Amino acid sequence: MANPVLQQIVDAIHARKRFVISSHSRPDGDSIGSQLAAAYALQALGKNVTIVNADQAPPPLMQFPGVPEITIASQVEVEPGDDAAAIIMECSDLSRTGVTGLDRFFVINIDHHPGNTSYGQLNWFDATAAACGELVFDLVRALGAPLTREVATHIYVAILTDTGSFHYSSISPRTFDICRETLEAGVDPVMVARNVYDSNNMGRLKLFGSVLSAMQIDQSGRIAIVYLDHEMAREAGGTYEDTEGIINLPLTVKEIQAVVFFKQSEGEEYRVSMRSKGNIDVGAVAKEFGGGGHKNAAGCTVTGPIDGLQKVFIEKIEGAIELQNGRIAELQK
Ligand code: 5GP
Ligand code: MN
Repeated sequence: MANPVLQQIVDAIHARKRFVISSHSRPDGDSIGSQLAAAYALQALGKNVTIVNADQAPPPLMQFPGVPEITIASQVEVEPGDDAAAIIMECSDLSRTGVTGLDRFFVINIDHHPGNTSYGQLNWFDATAAACGELVFDLVRALGAPLTREVATHIYVAILTDTGSFHYSSISPRTFDICRETLEAGVDPVMVARNVYDSNNMGRLKLFGSVLSAMQIDQSGRIAIVYLDHEMAREAGGTYEDTEGIINLPLTVKEIQAVVFFKQSEGEEYRVSMRSKGNIDVGAVAKEFGGGGHKNAAGCTVTGPIDGLQKVFIEKIEGAIELQNGRIAELQK
């Protein structure tokens, strides 16, 4: 096998019977899809598999096989004499799972986020993958497990969602090779897209309306700033889970190059999500605030008065846009 770490992971899986699979807290489509694709593949090989996540999957993903059965817990136990392995998907460090006790397992770390801290006994990290689901596809093949419709569907969900429905610069020919194989294995892309993107409830649509009407644009006209606090959510009759996907809407405006979304956690603590177009690196901005992610999709958690925070993030993102423009000017010389 061309990839020695993948071979070691395959050997470690074949040598064990029991597996716990986990991923980052507040899971997204890539974390859910990667975990379930791996779980179905391992089960087909006769393995005993439990998926444990700190938080529920976003509601639209509940419509896919196995998602409602995921165990939601903040702790896992190792039984005496147990040589079980924990497979961690999509998680730059183990604490981001929000699940304690995983470090007592034999840890297999599979990720595509720049900045992964190599916390596992085996670490397979590939930042060129558009989704962790691409790596899981290679794992399924390397294990000799069947690419069933369930496995293929979850890999497709992972790729569709983590590329922002094929919008981000992380996409490669490999992305489409894998998608083609998942379709040949029975994936229905129309059903997947409808389930993922067209499962809104009215509360969600109203919440979108109120968040978008409060949207601000920076002086340069290139950055959209969106904001949500608990009171706005209550008034609109939506929940925080309903905000998934909101951040992508301002980017549909041609002039908008980046979006920053501040979502109140409690008091003056905010979850910050950022999205960008092209080579504008919001991952680098998130990293400056102790977060992480990718060039076009990243996030972090910050605390402080919202006005000051917005000003700082706009400055940083403007810096990232200027850096990109500088690079383009350099190339055109
Ligand atoms: P989202 O905005 O959807 O929450 O996250 C976008 C991307 O940034 C995802 O790949 C996610 O894993 C990553 N990300 C978001 N928040 C954090 C964070 O606090 N720390 C790190 N390391 N990555 C984050
Ligand atoms: Mn991902």
